[in-house]
Amino acid sequence: MTVVIASGNKGKIKEFKKLLPLYDVKTFKELLGDIEIIEDANTFKGNAIKKARTIYDELLLKYPNQNDFLVIADDSGISVEELNNEPNIYSARYAGENATDKQNNEKLTSNLKAKNLSKSKAYYTACIAMIYKNEVHTTHGWMYGEVGVAEIGEGGFGYDPLFTPIGYEDTLGVLDDEVKKSISHRAKAVSLAMKILDVIL
Ligand code: IMP
Repeated sequence: MTVVIASGNKGKIKEFKKLLPLYDVKTFKELLGDIEIIEDANTFKGNAIKKARTIYDELLLKYPNQNDFLVIADDSGISVEELNNEPNIYSARYAGENATDKQNNEKLTSNLKAKNLSKSKAYYTACIAMIYKNEVHTTHGWMYGEVGVAEIGEGGFGYDPLFTPIGYEDTLGVLDDEVKKSISHRAKAVSLAMKILDVIL
């Protein structure tokens, strides 16, 4: 069985590979090349399923004799309490289509500063969607903490240099990858997904 990650996000791919060390993990690009996945659902779950379904269907078209692909997709984002829980499902494109992490972080921090705030409670959500033998399975995970208005550290990706998890003094930009692996929204959703794999594989 091949586990195919339905994501082009380098940060997520790196984390998935670490979280699934026992499997032969490939990215969809390695098997299918470039494919545009349109994220037009209004929930993390809807978008995660859309990503997994798009890649699963393309794999079956290209490799009709192989039906044991497990496709795994994640849709995730950060919700900031003082910004009405923005950017939520729009986290990747908060500062516009194809925005960089830096631009998204700048938009978040300037929106907080515009309200004279130096921090806010925030949380990450991850929804994992898996498709195996044409059946869809989903799980969720969350990580709570707060965001500040200065990027601190180079680790992680996306909003991590702004985010300090509950119980820690440092941002995910500073904390070791192993810490994030043990507490993250994605790790929690993946660990629930593994329980499903134990039953369906
Ligand atoms: P998606 O690829 O459409 O699910 O977008 C996810 C976006 O949410 C990423 O581009 C990041 O901006 C943000 N995000 C999700 N998970 C994380 C994380 O673990 N750390 C930092 N940012 C994250």
